[in-house]
Amino acid sequence: MKILADVMEQVIKRNPNETEFHQAVSEVLESLEPVAEKHPEWVKAGIFSRIVEPERQVVFRVTWVDDNGNVQVNRGFRVQFNSAIGPYKGGLRLHPSVNIGIIKFLGFEQILKNSLTGLPIGGGKGGSDFDPKGKSDGEIMRFCQNFMFELSRHIGENTDVPAGDIGVGGREIGYLFGMYKKIRNEFTGVLTGKGLDWGGSLARTEATGYGLCYFMEEALNAKGKSFKGATVSVSGSGNVAIYATQKVHQLGGKVVAMSDSNGYIYDPEGIKLDTIQRLKEIERQRISKYVDFHPNATYTEGCSNIWNVKCDIALPSATQNELDGEAAKTLIANGCYAVGEGANMPSTPEAVELFIENKVVFGPAKAANAGGVATSALEMSQNSMRYSWSFEEVDAKLKNIMANIYKNASEAAKEYGQEDNLVAGANIAGFLKVASAMYSQGIL
Ligand code: GLU
Repeated sequence: MKILADVMEQVIKRNPNETEFHQAVSEVLESLEPVAEKHPEWVKAGIFSRIVEPERQVVFRVTWVDDNGNVQVNRGFRVQFNSAIGPYKGGLRLHPSVNIGIIKFLGFEQILKNSLTGLPIGGGKGGSDFDPKGKSDGEIMRFCQNFMFELSRHIGENTDVPAGDIGVGGREIGYLFGMYKKIRNEFTGVLTGKGLDWGGSLARTEATGYGLCYFMEEALNAKGKSFKGATVSVSGSGNVAIYATQKVHQLGGKVVAMSDSNGYIYDPEGIKLDTIQRLKEIERQRISKYVDFHPNATYTEGCSNIWNVKCDIALPSATQNELDGEAAKTLIANGCYAVGEGANMPSTPEAVELFIENKVVFGPAKAANAGGVATSALEMSQNSMRYSWSFEEVDAKLKNIMANIYKNASEAAKEYGQEDNLVAGANIAGFLKVASAMYSQGIL
């Protein structure tokens, strides 16, 4: 890094100890060096130094009472990172690992991801260190209501539109939306991922997983390959992993392994998705229970061991940095020829480097998993029109968006001398649009 070295230095200095944020920014700045060379006017206008600094960061206390009558205190966050091309848009994550650095890495990625969708949405992210695991419905509701009590002051359908992420699905969006509506006395599309009877979009639930497969199918086809007949490992068993698995099966592939934070299951005959959906979506159980219903399957403790399973295609769809250099080496040695990131930043920098060096077809998160937020933007459009499209209409739009993201990322990679490097291509293509908007809007 030459021109942008001082930008990275400043990020580290200004945000000490936020390692995930450093990791996300450093990968992007490395890709953008040729862009900085070509656009000295953007360097002069401080675009690179500005895009790494959130426009606004809100940190707040969330107090709620648990089922035993004890007062609980959590920390809430909303980082409104960049609004150059549209209202801030991005999910809310509820997980004990959440801190400002995690939210900033996610928010930063979201700027470029949202730009890649081609739709008018800026970048933001939020959440809390609240741990939903083992909590009753009542506790989840009281937490969400108290979280929204503060968040409602900072969001709005034309300002900032949150959605789900890890730990936030349909149930939580319902509690959050209900409280927003009560506080503001208005029924607007302020959140996405809503229930179908109250403003949600068909296909939003499936969108991240389906979009991941549509993107990867494009990338695979360009290399004369496809999901058809492929053996696939999908880490995670949340919303992204479940619908990626469903689409892989529809496209003629076979998912043989899935995981949760405790361990992974291996079913050589192909994962029976209805069992996973029942265990995870309805009963909120551990994945180890799967083997009680399918005795030919095995369960192994330790979620990162899933990458020891021999597969043709890997879809890491659990969480950040879940696939390291060692895991990448094992996958490559076992003949894995494609990796598509369903989670945000699931591969460590070392793993990404190995995939690119070894010519593995690699779909980076901000391109490959953009289908979720793209469909959220379609939900916003439907809300503005007070109208709903059919499942087929939304799915067709999603497919088209994913194909365009692939095209734009691969063309940008080629144009900037990095053919086949979709990491560089996605970073550059996403950045160009935001940078040009920031430049046109003046020094702010
Ligand atoms: N949390 C998802 C993401 O990482 C979706 C965000 C949204 O729909 O706004 O992109």
